[in-house]
Amino acid sequence: MRLENKVSMITGAARGIGREIAMLFASEGSNLAICDVNEEALAATKGEIEKTTGRKVVAAKIDVTREEDVQNFVKKVLDNFSSLDILVNNAGITRDNLVMRMSEQEWDAVLDVNLKGAFNCIKAVSRPMMKNRSGKIINMASIIGIMGNMGQANYSASKGGLIALTKSVAKELGSRNINVNAIAPGFIQTDMTDKLQGEIKETLLKLIPLGKMGEAKDVARLALFLASSDSSYITGQVLQVDGGMVM
Ligand code: NAP
Repeated sequence: MRLENKVSMITGAARGIGREIAMLFASEGSNLAICDVNEEALAATKGEIEKTTGRKVVAAKIDVTREEDVQNFVKKVLDNFSSLDILVNNAGITRDNLVMRMSEQEWDAVLDVNLKGAFNCIKAVSRPMMKNRSGKIINMASIIGIMGNMGQANYSASKGGLIALTKSVAKELGSRNINVNAIAPGFIQTDMTDKLQGEIKETLLKLIPLGKMGEAKDVARLALFLASSDSSYITGQVLQVDGGMVM
């Protein structure tokens, strides 16, 4: 097992990519601290992980945009487990619109969850990880943060910002043996992409050399690599899981 006796905190873990990462990490031996705003789905995920893997799971309804709630959650995790080894900043939302029609609320909501939420969680775990002289931080960016996209100015700015945040924090925490990397998924089959219209999906599929959408498990496997000791000499990087869509 690649994460035996580790403790992993995963945000937005109730469904989609976050849930898949939580399932895979638990099956590789990690205990979990999972949070999400979707309380019902989170409880179902916790129940399934405990039943199928026997790992200990601490779960709480946490909005990552609220710094105090994030700090309290990390305290609770440290009370339950002796350390916190891995953080996956996965929680993310979209509020798509063309710039000329985008409301301040749509802009703020996406920047708050996707960028400030990650900052809040990194800030909360950095002290315990520094004390431990060990840690892995994985930020879920997007290829849209690299290439931009029409109708997603808020989302692309948040994910581009997350990539820049990844590099800065990698430089700050590297001397304490903390690796900080970003994953940039392409077009992955989840509830988030189910919202896209058929026509848009057809157009996007034509841009993918591998000719198909990715699955949440494709992203989870890369997260496992970045969370494990196999990636101990990799930091500040953005790794794409996109079927070759952006190269
Ligand atoms: P998803 O299915 O929508 O799941 C995201 C989860 O995060 C949901 O359970 C959501 O709760 C939760 N969440 C939203 N706001 C939150 C907050 N403020 N605090 C805590 N949890 C919150 O999304 P996904 O497709 O799995 O995407 C996961 C991550 O990968 C996101 O960061 C996304 O930007 C990134 N990504 C996805 C794709 C893709 O193709 N799917 C591509 C590139 C990057 P609700 O259900 O209540 O909204």
